[in-house]
Amino acid sequence: MGKLPRKGLDWIEVLRRVRLLRSRIPDHFHGFVGSMTTVPLPIARIAFLEMQEINANDIATFSEIRELEVETIEAMGEILGCSNCTGMITSGGTEANIAALYLAREHGYETVYYSPVTHDSIPKAIHLLRMKGIEVPHRGFRIDVDELRRACKVHGEGVVVATVGTTGFGTIDPIEEIEEVAEECGLVIHIDAAFGGFVAPYLYPNRRLGFENAHVVSATMDPHKLGLAPIPAGGLIVRSEEWFEPLVFEARYMPAGKQIGLLGTRSAGSIVASWASIMSMGLEGYRELAHELMKRTRILIDSVRRLGLEPAIEPEVPVVCIAFDRDAELLEALRRRGYHLYLCGLVRGVRIVVMPHLTLDSIKDLTRAFDEALTDLRCAPHQRS
Ligand code: PLP
Repeated sequence: MGKLPRKGLDWIEVLRRVRLLRSRIPDHFHGFVGSMTTVPLPIARIAFLEMQEINANDIATFSEIRELEVETIEAMGEILGCSNCTGMITSGGTEANIAALYLAREHGYETVYYSPVTHDSIPKAIHLLRMKGIEVPHRGFRIDVDELRRACKVHGEGVVVATVGTTGFGTIDPIEEIEEVAEECGLVIHIDAAFGGFVAPYLYPNRRLGFENAHVVSATMDPHKLGLAPIPAGGLIVRSEEWFEPLVFEARYMPAGKQIGLLGTRSAGSIVASWASIMSMGLEGYRELAHELMKRTRILIDSVRRLGLEPAIEPEVPVVCIAFDRDAELLEALRRRGYHLYLCGLVRGVRIVVMPHLTLDSIKDLTRAFDEALTDLRCAPHQRS
């Protein structure tokens, strides 16, 4: 018997199976706290379905979708300090980062400076694009600016990736200092604000985290993370049409004769859903969200500290790496209690992302689960790091 039924299943049966599967996998409201995904805004889900089957890459037939895409990107750009940016909605942060490094390469910047704390999509992009990667050491889970200066004096001009909200530690690279090095060495800067873009500018209004720095040419900022849009929705924000130009490709069969971005067909659903999230949240909505999530982050840290655990570093955005040597065992013990966390990556520890579904009540339950898991591992308080 093959996998494909001879006679199609009726829809009730199809839905029954889908729901059965859904009931078996971890749920955001029940313990899925390691990831940067969350439950999207209902209005964004509805907007997605309204436009799901429209191919946004037919930019002639659906020119109004492209206009809405640019409007969405401009709105995101404003949060990151750009008044006239262009760009596109992508499938996620990975695609946006690959596209950003491709743009840098096409403009003659073939060397990529990044740190070990940078998201894995950057080494992936370097590999795919056959660029030259220079890994610069980190200090306190942020790129070490003195090392960056030393490295660029040796390897010359290139593009440096600065992260606003690192994946494993919630830190922010010292962008203003990176800007100074960029000036000295002839670097351009790509900001990876895939996670932090919707929160950090509100939390640190006095810091220049984006396009206020003259050498920043592009940024990644994902609606499907803290923008609260459904997956798939990343964002690539680019300073000028001229910098974006290499992402416009010939597509001879298309009415416009061209397409934008690395993909072919892409759903307009992602664009309208991103627009719907951003417009319905507004500046104030994201500001409140940012402060609320940071408040919960501090409460979470205080709670685990009372159990004798310590974060690897005090985070600047709502991502907490709890240092723990036997991290895989701890993950497993938490999983048995219904909690799904991720690893921090660079150091031993487990990562929690304080997304909107991690409420104060869930933080209490999660702390209890930690306490029990530690007892499972028979850790006395002094063994807990
Ligand atoms: N950049 C950063 C800083 C991230 O944290 C992530 C994902 O966690 C990405 C890029 C990749 O985003 P995506 O998983 O949407 O491709």
